[in-house]
Amino acid sequence: MPLVVVGSLALDTIETPTARCENTLGGSAVYFAWAASYFTPVRLVGVVGEDWPAEYTQLLQSRGIDTQALEIRPGGRTFRWHGRYSEDLNSRETIEVHLNVMADFNPILPEPHRRAPFVFLANGSTHMQLRVLEQCSGAALVVADTMDLWIRTERPQLVQLLQRVGGLVLNDSEARLLTGETHLVRAGRKALELGPQFVVIKKGEHGAMFFSRHETYVLPAYPTENVVDPTGAGDSFAGAMLGYLAEQNNFEPTTLKQAMAYGILVASFTVEGFSLDQLRKTERSDIERRMDQYRRMLSF
Ligand code: AMP
Repeated sequence: MPLVVVGSLALDTIETPTARCENTLGGSAVYFAWAASYFTPVRLVGVVGEDWPAEYTQLLQSRGIDTQALEIRPGGRTFRWHGRYSEDLNSRETIEVHLNVMADFNPILPEPHRRAPFVFLANGSTHMQLRVLEQCSGAALVVADTMDLWIRTERPQLVQLLQRVGGLVLNDSEARLLTGETHLVRAGRKALELGPQFVVIKKGEHGAMFFSRHETYVLPAYPTENVVDPTGAGDSFAGAMLGYLAEQNNFEPTTLKQAMAYGILVASFTVEGFSLDQLRKTERSDIERRMDQYRRMLSF
């Protein structure tokens, strides 16, 4: 089933303890769309400036990602993010963020996009996420992501959004910031009270936690040794998760658990390179091979 994603398309500058990568392809919607495209047709909604290399659009199209609703703003500059990772790659600080064309992005979805049954509101302003939600009123499942910047600056809009989405995906520090709870199980439960039917808290190298009114569980990360750059892990986790749900065309509890596992596995490929470098070399068969190993790892 078609899956619509709206979020950032970025030129990222990334510093890890051993390397630096400037103005590379990034953005929440980019990682999400690529990861989801292993499973289902993806329609990308976003905005870039004149400095956006056309080859990046062609790269996304080469995976079958629909870029019809990608706006190229004349005279505008693309969203830029500069992040620096700690020695153990487990935390990062934002050195600079320039919203540029994202600052006043007002997405107007083409008619076929409005009818997509699955929608993901990737990281971007909550204001913009609400605008998209209004246009996709018939979707079977809408899931949102958010981050510290928006939790701090657009909390009232976020509370409004959470009353209207089916799922929320966020990382551990964002869950703590959103709910004021330091204990993650309590944070997950409290996030559920804000409205969504399920909440997923991503915990980086420690995997992800799932919360619904009926169940709570944790899935471990796939133990890859080769972590180069964690950027995009969360977005590609969400992309594979939603992509799988859209492929299966349901979001029953068993499907949701399988979808989480696919999210964890695709994220494990993302972190093995900068930008989309590793994902570009990854096929669905590689993901399935890792899934076999992951299942064996979890059975006892
Ligand atoms: P992740 O590592 O999965 O959290 O995603 C990192 C990506 O999110 C990077 O490629 C950034 O360009 C993008 N990003 C960082 N900050 C923001 C923001 N405030 N809004 C939207 N996207 C962002």
